[in-house]
Amino acid sequence: MTLRPFGAVSSLERLNFAPMSNNRTELEELGEFGLIKRLTENNKAVNPSTLYAVGDDAAVIDAGDGMVKVVTTDMLMEGIHFDLSYSPLLHLGYKAVVVNLSDVYAMNAIPKQVTVSIALSNRFSLEAVEELYHGIYKACTVYGVDLVGGDTTSSLSGLALSITAVGEAKKEDVVYRKNAQEKDLLVVSGDLGGAYMGLQVLEREKKVFKETSGVQPKLEGNDYILERQLKPEARKDIIEMLEQLGVKPSSMIDISDGLASEVLHLTDQSGLGSVVYEEKIPIDPTTFERAREFHLDPTVCALSGGEDYELLFTVSQDDYEKIKGNPNMTVIGYMVDKASGNHLIDKREQAHPLTAQGWDPILKKEED
Ligand code: ADP
Ligand code: MG
Repeated sequence: MTLRPFGAVSSLERLNFAPMSNNRTELEELGEFGLIKRLTENNKAVNPSTLYAVGDDAAVIDAGDGMVKVVTTDMLMEGIHFDLSYSPLLHLGYKAVVVNLSDVYAMNAIPKQVTVSIALSNRFSLEAVEELYHGIYKACTVYGVDLVGGDTTSSLSGLALSITAVGEAKKEDVVYRKNAQEKDLLVVSGDLGGAYMGLQVLEREKKVFKETSGVQPKLEGNDYILERQLKPEARKDIIEMLEQLGVKPSSMIDISDGLASEVLHLTDQSGLGSVVYEEKIPIDPTTFERAREFHLDPTVCALSGGEDYELLFTVSQDDYEKIKGNPNMTVIGYMVDKASGNHLIDKREQAHPLTAQGWDPILKKEED
């Protein structure tokens, strides 16, 4: 049964969308990015202070005196983004803040405030929610941000956590996804694929635990990748380092959905193509070993795993000397013209089209 809204609502005009037909389009046909595009393609800002709306890691709002605010929001749903059977609430609170701050740093801005909205079912006790908040406050302390508000409501289906982060930057310092130039170097911070392998280990141990009652999980030797999954950090240090080095990236994004997906966002929005060298992709030895153990290709884990929260950025070749040999940054390729497309050069020097099989929550359900 469909409830029809009352008359008052009928005065709402449907401005932007195609007339509603009797067709039913499944959301999975569009995927997450297709859906966002569809919902926002006719979005027009009416306020001059809205400098940049949808499409980057954060929106950019004029704050006067040559300053801007950046605003970003991320929502985590139980059963989709986290599993409380192996994600401690303390870590979850920390991670929920960090993933938002990562988007602020990806604009080359400094996070200052967060709001926290939670939906709770009666499964959660006060002590449990306080544990979550310990994690939230811990991240606020570590990154020097203030919790300034939020919302609390009930839920029929587990925990939902939505955090909004606000950051500040000089207008001229903001780095968008869209300004990469041909021949710019493609650089990544840290190493990739670890968070995904951490998740594989946790899922494996959960399965064993369920099937063999009383068996405690075997997690030794996996500290690094488990931490990458359960308690990631945002690369505040990279933003500070780039400033000290006098390097302003021409474009930047954080890696939440996997390297391939993020490279394609940069090239798409900059109207370019790219070349990425497989042998240059930084992968930690634990990630590599564990991937082999799971019969996974470590490169695929780095390209499509996601949740690493590293920064991916482009710099002019003139800046190469400044970042050369820096252990926190790896040049993995360069930008080319759009017509050349996006390619991965494998270890045998064969070129393959670079495609995004990134983590897409709308598709994920189907795969399960
Ligand atoms: P990120 O992975 O960096 O958090 P997303 O992929 O979630 O970015 O979102 C891409 C862009 O789309 C962002 O600018 C975001 O603000 C915008 N966006 C996402 N969902 C919606 C929505 N439901 N309505 C309007 N804008 C959205
Ligand atoms: Mg992002």
